[in-house]
Amino acid sequence: MTKVEISFDSIPRSAVSKTTLNICLKCAFDVFTKQLKLAPRTAYSELKKHTPEEADFTGAATSRPHFFHSEGLDHCPYCYGAKRWFAEFHAIRIDANPSFEKERKKLWAALKKSPDRYVLWSPERTQMQIFSEWLERLNRSLNFEDNRWLLNAAISYIKRTAPSNDWDEVLSAGVQRVQLSRQINDNWRYENGLLYVSPALYGDVLMVQHLLSRSHQHGGRTFEGRLTFQELIRRLRRTGYFAAKNIDAEDPYELFEQAVARLVDSGPSAVYYAVDRKPYLDKLKSVYEKKRDK
Ligand SMILES: [Zn+2]
Repeated sequence: MTKVEISFDSIPRSAVSKTTLNICLKCAFDVFTKQLKLAPRTAYSELKKHTPEEADFTGAATSRPHFFHSEGLDHCPYCYGAKRWFAEFHAIRIDANPSFEKERKKLWAALKKSPDRYVLWSPERTQMQIFSEWLERLNRSLNFEDNRWLLNAAISYIKRTAPSNDWDEVLSAGVQRVQLSRQINDNWRYENGLLYVSPALYGDVLMVQHLLSRSHQHGGRTFEGRLTFQELIRRLRRTGYFAAKNIDAEDPYELFEQAVARLVDSGPSAVYYAVDRKPYLDKLKSVYEKKRDK
């Protein structure tokens, strides 16, 4: 009997991030059989219950026997065991948004029916943490050597503000440029390769670009060129950003802080994880059977 695979397609892709974490089964078995002197069968039944912690997936505290696979890695970084000992966990993270909460709940109800395969978490997060983590993931995914990162960052941000599965279709002809427009009624409009955005959205994009690039060499880069902090504030004021968002303060730092707070508040307020253990369980079983039959 084969079960139908559960699809995550009902969730907008811009709200989903996937991480693959590897585990070395040689290291994992050794803990139980060599250190704790347990029989392989006991080790196997213990390992069947295993799920890495969130900190292993985020890289905050990835520890033995877990590691991230990198190209060309064919031995375990801890025990030098061969590749055939490697198994994978897939963490699927969803940054929630009311616009698809119904679909998310439905998906979770389906996942709950396979408790062995899917481990579900909803870790506590402030909106600020969720925003910082999103920025961090985006930062890692961009190539700052190539100027196209500016466009890619802008599109990622715009998708985040309006998570939808229709983006691929809407933007199927590609985006050549993001263009500030005071004429549009909505936040954005796409036409012939140009993505027109309102002053509020355009300013948000400049803020995000500034935040992303400030930690890099020659930082502070935006669609408006490389800007110092003061220049950024002046530019945002001139485009009507603060007025459009009802942000008012004398002090530039106060303006900036309020603008960041708005970015954060308009974003997701909850995080959900589903850890898919199937590839791990399959590999664990085959490794154990080979071990047993030796
Ligand atoms: Zn190992």
